Amino acid sequence: MIESLLDRKVAKRQPKVRFDGRILFLAEDPALIRRQLDGENLDPANLSPLRNDISTDEITPAYICYHFDETLGEFVYLGLKCGEEFPIKRNDVKNGGFVVSVSGKRRGKGSSREQSPYAEIAAGLKLVVAENIERIYKQNCQNLGLLTSTDFDLLKRIAANEEIPLEEFTRGEDEITRQIIEYGGLFPFNVARLQGRISLPKVSTTERPMTVAEKIFARHFVTDLSKDLVGVEAVKPGDAGFVRTDIRFSHEYVTPMAAIFYEQLVGEEPINDPASVYFFQDHLTFLDDVMPPERRAMGLLDLAHQLVRKQEEFAGKQGIRLHGALKDRKGSEAICHSLILQNYALPGQVIIGSDSHTPHAGAVGCVAFGVGTTDVFNSWITKDVRVRVPEQVRVRISGRRPENVTAKDFMLGILRTDFVRGGDAIAKIVEYTGEAVADLSIDERATMTNMAAEVGAFTGIVAADQKTVEFLVERGLEKSEAERLCEGIWSDPDAKYDSTIEINASELRPMIATPGDPGNGIFVDELREPVKIDIAYGGSCTAGKKEDLDMYVRVFREALARGQRIHPDVQCFIQFGSVEVRKHCEERGYLEVLRDVGASIIEPSCGACINAGPGVSTSKTQVVISAQNRNFPGRSGPGQMYLASPYTVAASAIAGHIVEYRPASAASRI
Ligand code: SF4
Repeated sequence: MIESLLDRKVAKRQPKVRFDGRILFLAEDPALIRRQLDGENLDPANLSPLRNDISTDEITPAYICYHFDETLGEFVYLGLKCGEEFPIKRNDVKNGGFVVSVSGKRRGKGSSREQSPYAEIAAGLKLVVAENIERIYKQNCQNLGLLTSTDFDLLKRIAANEEIPLEEFTRGEDEITRQIIEYGGLFPFNVARLQGRISLPKVSTTERPMTVAEKIFARHFVTDLSKDLVGVEAVKPGDAGFVRTDIRFSHEYVTPMAAIFYEQLVGEEPINDPASVYFFQDHLTFLDDVMPPERRAMGLLDLAHQLVRKQEEFAGKQGIRLHGALKDRKGSEAICHSLILQNYALPGQVIIGSDSHTPHAGAVGCVAFGVGTTDVFNSWITKDVRVRVPEQVRVRISGRRPENVTAKDFMLGILRTDFVRGGDAIAKIVEYTGEAVADLSIDERATMTNMAAEVGAFTGIVAADQKTVEFLVERGLEKSEAERLCEGIWSDPDAKYDSTIEINASELRPMIATPGDPGNGIFVDELREPVKIDIAYGGSCTAGKKEDLDMYVRVFREALARGQRIHPDVQCFIQFGSVEVRKHCEERGYLEVLRDVGASIIEPSCGACINAGPGVSTSKTQVVISAQNRNFPGRSGPGQMYLASPYTVAASAIAGHIVEYRPASAASRI
């Protein structure tokens, strides 16, 4: 408990809000935006077409997010494209005296970055009005205290300088959200909670058959924060409240902003239970190898280094374990997800991380999910996080998979189903079951839980079983302890699922996702003509694990035995997910195989996966095949990126074009 917060004065907002300032209409027509920036106030009763689909990338482009303090407010909407123009320049919004920002449909889509609403607040904005507002962006606004509304009639009242009742912004929200809005954000709400001034709705669900994730939530539901009480009899989808976390982690892209929030709002006091908090330096380790000169000239590399330094400084002050850069060579100790699974995650835990691929750790039967900056910062105070128990989707994979079909092929198959492509799995928990999943190693299961992010799910999970016990024993746990932890970490036979996706593994063949979206899956043998490749990349949290390296090397060994090496027109990069994976490779002689076949070996880091390391494309015409998890446009450079399994990536690197791997020394189809 952080004692000083018990005396901190926090109060609800006034019951009426006045917006002293101007309204900025983010119109489709760039000339209209320029006129507003020049001082003209538009008439809310006579609206011109507004920009739809304003993404968080447009509100705060990724390179702007190297800033992690109020400076962000100078850059808001720099990425906003109207027609062929970017009409808003640095400081325009801040200097314009705007307090309300208005746009059309799907405001805040795309990345979950909290820098976007934070930049809007730092530029002076107090209210966002749009026809509809994306869920995560809206939650980030609420957490930070930025009001939102879809009621355009408010604009005339605001323009007439009328006071607006706060109820206009809380109507239709659940009880917890309403109170967060009334308190002006998650932090003041949590301070009031710590002081016992908040009454939360009680979870009163009685005993019922539960899924594995529901069981874990029930064990972790906070019933009394001040008395440190957790656990309810049962939960069902829709139950809302806070759950106690076992592990909280963040990387250098997010930690500095959360640290600034903490220092500004809490001060120097120790965070709650620092031993269960971990920091990682993984995203930007190789950035200086690939940042273009014009971005360097803007000082962005220095800013990226500042992110790293701020994280180090906060970790040092707070006594938080930082898995940072390697001392003896360029690289990181590990990608966050790799190490959390490898060293820390245990069955039955609740784990939160500052990254959408946090579900990775669900491979050992825990509920692991990504959260925003304010949630991270608040969890340092309360050790819990707000949830609404999601609906559950079961993915049942029966049958026996062919030898060249992997967990990645399963995922590309799942992602192309109408159910997932239609958005029916969004924000739900995906539980992977069936004999083909039981047959997978923990590493391969992690490929599936990791890519719950691409499904759009809240998280992915696999129930604990004998494979989980063996994994934990290999990690150093006593067998009896591993068995105790796994006990009961599975779904009841009559647990309820919202839907079930059935897949027969024996009918699958190696798959690729064509450029643009992980949901563009086709079988490799459906390619109508050979697709020549320039780059083959094997790495990232999804595909830099021990078993992934086993797969690349299996293919390369067979190629060497046939007298083949990496195709002369292809650059092949193999990157470890952690130092432990490198050690696994050293012990098995893999490094020699990788060198002999002509692959470039890259030390652990996110690197090319986030356009920040060797393996990125540098022109639109380059074709890349990668074992990472997403291939959205521009994700890893301007080229055309195909996603595939480690087997397919390695076989294609040898062939020079996309082919599936044919095992047991049979030549790949070249
Ligand atoms: S490897 Fe890629 S997907 Fe994984 S955490 Fe790093 S940037 Fe994210």
